Formats: sequence, C-alpha cells, structure tokens
Amino acid sequence: MKVALAGFFHETNTFSPIPADLASFLRPGTLPGLTRGNDMAPVLGGLNVPIAGAMQALSAARHELHPVAWASAVPCGPVTRDAFETIAGLILDGIAKVPSLDGVYLDLHGAMVAEDDLDPELTLLRRLRARLGPDVPVVASLDLHANLSPERVAALDGLATFRTYPHLDMDVTGARAAALLMRCMAGERFHSAFRSLPFLIPLHAQGTTTGPAARLFEACEALGRHQGIAGAELALGFPPADVPYAGPAIVVLAGVAADAERAADDIARWLLQAEHEFDAALPGPEAAIREAIAAARHAAGRPVVVADTQDNPGAGGMGDTVGLLRELIALDAPDAVFALLHDPAAVSQAHAIGAGAAAPFRLGAHAATVPGEAPVEASFTVARLADGRITAVGPMYRGIRWDVGATALLRHRGVRVLVSERRLQAADTAILRHAGIDPRQVAIVVLKSTVHFRAEYEAMAARIIVAAAPGLNLADLRGYAYRRLRPGVRPIDPGRRVDDGRA
Ligand SMILES: [Zn+2]
Repeated sequence: MKVALAGFFHETNTFSPIPADLASFLRPGTLPGLTRGNDMAPVLGGLNVPIAGAMQALSAARHELHPVAWASAVPCGPVTRDAFETIAGLILDGIAKVPSLDGVYLDLHGAMVAEDDLDPELTLLRRLRARLGPDVPVVASLDLHANLSPERVAALDGLATFRTYPHLDMDVTGARAAALLMRCMAGERFHSAFRSLPFLIPLHAQGTTTGPAARLFEACEALGRHQGIAGAELALGFPPADVPYAGPAIVVLAGVAADAERAADDIARWLLQAEHEFDAALPGPEAAIREAIAAARHAAGRPVVVADTQDNPGAGGMGDTVGLLRELIALDAPDAVFALLHDPAAVSQAHAIGAGAAAPFRLGAHAATVPGEAPVEASFTVARLADGRITAVGPMYRGIRWDVGATALLRHRGVRVLVSERRLQAADTAILRHAGIDPRQVAIVVLKSTVHFRAEYEAMAARIIVAAAPGLNLADLRGYAYRRLRPGVRPIDPGRRVDDGRA
C-alpha cells in the first residue's frame, strides 16, 4: 500500500522571546534540519527519531513509502506564521501529490504553538483531512511532552507517544505508530478514549529513570498488550506552555469503546494517585554547588553532576544563564566544568586572543530574559578552541551530527566553562569530549539539561543534583504567569494526596 510520511517537530516554550522562524527549521539543530523526499531515508534513517522507526517498520512490511518532508527546530518561542505556513504547505502539497494514497504517518511533537495559533498541529491535521477526505487513515507519533488536545486526538486515527525520558524510544515509538497505521490500512478503526489530568508536572520530575513515571509507562505498556487494546498512551505534557490543553493526557485506543474508556480511567487514576511522588522542590544555585563540592569529596573518582534544568535549551531555555557558574567561582570549586554556555561574543573574544591567552570576560546573561541576572565577570584563560562539530555518542542522540558553531573552553582557577556560538542542550558526553574533556575525570560537571543527560551520565555519576538556577524552564510552575490554562488546571502539589479528601 502507498504510505506518505512527513514530520513537523517543535516543542514551544511560550515564555521564550525567541521565535521559531523558518531559518531555524531549515538548519540542523538538535535534530537534522528540513529534509525532503528521497533525502529523508539517508538523512534520518537509523537515527533515534520517530520517522526512522516508522520508515523501517513500513518498509519491512513492503509498503510503498512516499517520504514528503520533515523539519524540526531547537525548542524556543512560538513558531512564526511564515515558518508554519511554509512547512505545513510543503507537507500538505507533497501528500496531495501522491495518487491513490492508503495511509499517512506523521512525526509530530505535540507541543507546538504558533504565534497566532494555539494548536497549529490541529490546524495541520484539519487541512490534511480536508485534502484527503474522510477515509485515508492518519496516524502520528508524539513526544512524551506532548500537550494533547481532545480535538487533535479526534483528528487522528491513531497515535503513539514515547514512553521513556530520556527519550531512548523515539524510533520504537515511530514503529509503534506505523503498526497502528498498518492496522488501519487493513480496515480496522479504533475508538479513542481521552482523559486530561488537572495538574502540570515540571519536566525534571517526569524522568523515567527515577520517580513514578517509569511505573506509569510500564503499566501503559502492559495495558497495550491486553486483548482488544490497540494502544495505551500517556503524554506527561510540556508545562512551559501557556495553552488551554497544557498538561498530562491519556489516550487509549481499542476496537470496543468500553474497553478504551475503562483502561483510560485506570491510567488516569494511577496518575492522580501518584501526584505526591513527583518531587518538585529543588535547591537554588548556592545550595546546589555547596552540596556538589561536599559530595565530590566522597565521590571516589566519579563525577558529581549538577543539572541546570531551568536553563535547558532543550526546553526552550536561552542556554546563557550563569547562576551556577557564579557559585562555582564564588565557592572556588576545585575541579568543575560548566557546559554549554551560549555566548557568541565570548567565543569570538576567545578565538581572537587565542589559546593560552588570558583576559577579562563577561560571560552569559546577554539575552537578559531573567530579571536580575547579570554576566559573570572574571579573568579567564583560553584553554582550548574548537569548531563545534560534534557527533553524538549516547544512546539517545547516537550518530546525530551537531554544529554548535565555534566553541571555546575557558578556565578560571579550577572552573572551566565551555562556551558556544549556538544553543544546544548539553545532554551527550560528546559535547565535553569535543573540548578534550573526559567527564569521568572531572569532579563536578554542570550541564544545561533537565533529564536527557541521564541517558549517559547516570551510570557514571557518583551523585546527581538537579538545581533551580535562573532560566525559562521553571521547576516550580507556580512562578509562571499562566493566563490560558483550562479552568481547574494547576501546577502540581507534591504535598497533595488523593486520599486525603482535598483532590
Ligand atoms: Zn520530549
């Protein structure tokens, strides 16, 4: 059968001032840039991205693949009208050109917001349906951080969401979505039961290597194996998004409506009961670095890793705040690395003076997105210069080639800072290795990442401390001035238990 494949992937932090413009989708970011038609298999195939898993599964079943277009940009503020219309147009026109199509697979994030559209993925699906007519099945894979709307779920014949954070199963999820699509192409149709939850879970508490999320996803997977259930999907939501449909949601697909509804109620109940297990309180910069220095004394040669979650560029952070760097210097941390600081001016200064030279630098905080945040001013020696071309080695990003622009490793006493021209979440050890640093040999590693770094660092770290330093990805969601949430939706309250009569 003939299957069209396309992807349009953006996680939008509506509190970020940086628009996701067309240029940001054209160039490579965390994932490859705009890729079209027959380039998609060679560029995306084999990567841990959903469409790669879908292509593989559909090819293995000997369907005729029509790859149309795929684009993604580093998480930031809303997608511009120009970017949305251009990429949606490429996808819709490309799909419309395939004669007598049998099915469509879409690789969507599920938390995209456009500058004048709070649910642009719904807009895309509605336009697609208008072109395809009612009968051609459309199935999507979605990120674990999707903010699902019931209208969007209803516009799809099926969907599958990631079950791991770090997202180790992006390709597997694409394959699962493709399997659903193949069932639909064979004539099956599913009832979808939708539930949304009343609380928002901060990203750092959503990880599946610690905390309650792993158990919830295991339960979903087990439910999905029950006879009659075609998929039991849970999206934990992307809270730095002021949209009506923000927050966790559940979708269960089944041939019989009652089966889907019952399973959706089960998952919703489990998640409600787990609210108090999502630990949300984090130390501030000074407490976190003091704790890291103390822990490093007993770390037996293994690194203490500090996660700068609130400035994670992978969640729309600017990548340029210096709350933890300031404390590393103030507390004279004996052997620490801070990565990855987005600071093009510091990079050019370092390249101008050259390796080995020392000078006063003003590092970070140039975007001034956090009130009171100021650059760190100190004398640094340029320890190393590099070209910022990095091939990821960890299990999540394996094989993806990044270009963060020129980089410079700067040193002040025991503290080294890796600065770059472009923003990127410091989630893969290749980022430090490209600057000549083996993270296993450093006492304290501070990473602008929330959870994805755990894919590699959890095994090597003596201790992981998640810190709340300045940034746009708040750990305490009560700090956001939300205006558009649905009535009744609120930030999580780890002190709340459903059995105490308050919920
Ligand atoms: Zn995600």
